[in-house]
Amino acid sequence: MKPTLKSNGTRLETIYNHQIWIECACGRAAPVRVSDLLALDKPPQTVDDVVTKARCSRCGAIRVKRYQIVYNPKGVMEDALKGARKPGGHNVDD
Ligand SMILES: [Zn+2]
Repeated sequence: MKPTLKSNGTRLETIYNHQIWIECACGRAAPVRVSDLLALDKPPQTVDDVVTKARCSRCGAIRVKRYQIVYNPKGVMEDALKGARKPGGHNVDD
């Protein structure tokens, strides 16, 4: 059983209120909030960008076994409280 990583060119700004669960080959899995990524100085553009560059905090390697995109409206609420983004705002396509 060999895991395969499907290429995913989904733009992060279109899944702003999601998080990406990244599972490393060592077994560690951790969620990354897309809104956090977009808040970076040089945010990654696509899901692919994130997955191919994600470094595991346990083993230090970049070897994503699989990942899952999960809807996470709560994270957006937290951001709204911090004033980072407007509540209810989703796509930043203008
Ligand atoms: Zn690892």
